[in-house]
Amino acid sequence: MSAPKPQELLKVSHRPPRTGWMDTPVEFRKGTWCYPAKPKSLEVLDLPFPRQWSPEDEDWKLPPNWKEIVLEGLRERLHKFRSLQIFMDVCVRCGACADKCHFFIGSGDPKNMPVLRAELLRSVYRREFTTAGKLLGRMVGARDLDERVLKEWFYYFFQCTECRRCSVFCPFGIDTAEITIIARELLNLLGLNIDWIATPVANCYRTGNHLGLLPHAFKDMVDFCVDEIRNVTGVEVEPTFNRKGAEILFVAPSGDVFADPGIYTFMGYLMLFHAIGLDYTLSTYASEGGNFGLFTSHEVMKRLNAKIYAEAKRLRVKWIIGGECGHMWRVLHQYMDTMNGPADFLEEPVSPITGTKFENARSTKMVHICEFTADLIRHGKLNLDPSRNDHLVVTFHDSCNPSRAMGLLEEPRYIIRNVCRHFYEMPENTIREYTFCCGSGAGLGPDENLEMRLRGGLPRANAVKYVREKYGVNTLACICAIDRAALPALMDYWVPGVSVAGVHELVGNALVLPGEGERTTDLRGNPLPAVAARVEAAAREEV
Ligand code: SF4
Ligand code: SF4
Repeated sequence: MSAPKPQELLKVSHRPPRTGWMDTPVEFRKGTWCYPAKPKSLEVLDLPFPRQWSPEDEDWKLPPNWKEIVLEGLRERLHKFRSLQIFMDVCVRCGACADKCHFFIGSGDPKNMPVLRAELLRSVYRREFTTAGKLLGRMVGARDLDERVLKEWFYYFFQCTECRRCSVFCPFGIDTAEITIIARELLNLLGLNIDWIATPVANCYRTGNHLGLLPHAFKDMVDFCVDEIRNVTGVEVEPTFNRKGAEILFVAPSGDVFADPGIYTFMGYLMLFHAIGLDYTLSTYASEGGNFGLFTSHEVMKRLNAKIYAEAKRLRVKWIIGGECGHMWRVLHQYMDTMNGPADFLEEPVSPITGTKFENARSTKMVHICEFTADLIRHGKLNLDPSRNDHLVVTFHDSCNPSRAMGLLEEPRYIIRNVCRHFYEMPENTIREYTFCCGSGAGLGPDENLEMRLRGGLPRANAVKYVREKYGVNTLACICAIDRAALPALMDYWVPGVSVAGVHELVGNALVLPGEGERTTDLRGNPLPAVAARVEAAAREEV
């Protein structure tokens, strides 16, 4: 799918339409919505109403009692999630969140303002569940649920990346991402999901990872990374698979195993574990840290998360390290403990190298690789040569979930400062808990949605452009596999010349492995700065 030229996308009008929001129908314009879930993916998961349909069709082939199903689903969830009831009741329409959503900034569509996005659901809630709404209808912002409303839900709740930026600015802490999660759950009751979510979820359920790859393919890719590490360093790293009795189970997002540039991050993990002699194993069953169940329903999220713990139990490991992933950590920190925890059959994580107790993981027994590595560096356990990253002028994108959902702000920066010598922050209101989303999270990364992704990614790209022009930044580091998949296209479009890297790719470049030969290239095969300088000097002498 090609996208309009940047000059076109920059002509964003934030002027609202002449008609009121309730009277402005949704328009399914190509490039701004995602293909619907394939029936076979829903069937694998035993989700309701699998069928062929398209958002562009007039008839969405809804079950005859669809309204009843949705309203009953909403009633159940209001009862089950107190936060939802509060979020439905307390918004005072102060507008503090209105201009904080990257999709509103990039599209100018008022229904992408968090307050109005929530109102799409809240208006139905008012009508059905409040006395004022029942009696006064539109006068109090209430409206009936009909097919027009349902189509609007599908369009706009799949234009929210559940990034939670808006919630940081709301004086009441209303979390529109949670509202989106519930709205998507209601849509799923009618078989209305998008394929970029449903198929990875079904794959993960069947084979253990989003891509649906079988154990031998997973192992092949890891072996490929091992070969590449040997080529660059001369060192043979030896990961093991499904090894019972290993101390630690390591789970990465599958995007790091299968896709460029994630594989360089994966190589960094393997090199790190080799350097410290960690007793760990990979699993070909829990071969996915990511959890697209989060974008489907609480139930599906729980099912996918359980797989990691079932595997930890089967392999009799002591605890788990998780790789650089976004939503994997949101699920871990916000949901795992009440869904599948506490994981009492595992031990409280203690670093075998430094003796540090990761008390924050006392219940989940799962430690973020950045916490683990930062601790190693702090205790002087890694031999690092940051000059090997001198060709990289780095800035750091706080991925939404690790930053806002788990507060992982300092560890990645601490690592970057120890493995790179040129690091510059983007403007303050675009980083840490105020970070701007990549625009493709929460399952919104397919090609057919490219225009919307580029619009949603504009605020992030603008901040990168600022540091590129001011400091010559050429590398955008991040700790999320979705970011590594989505940001390269965003950079190529808005800020050409900036490449995207995981933090552990930078670690892998700088890490001096015991017994390594002379390194001439980084993990991507680019000449190291010292080597490039030597070649240049030799060429000058020849001339
Ligand atoms: S900031 Fe909070 S209270 Fe204000 S409009 Fe947004 S959601 Fe409502
Ligand atoms: S959660 Fe993120 S994408 Fe969704 S409305 Fe809030 S700012 Fe926008």
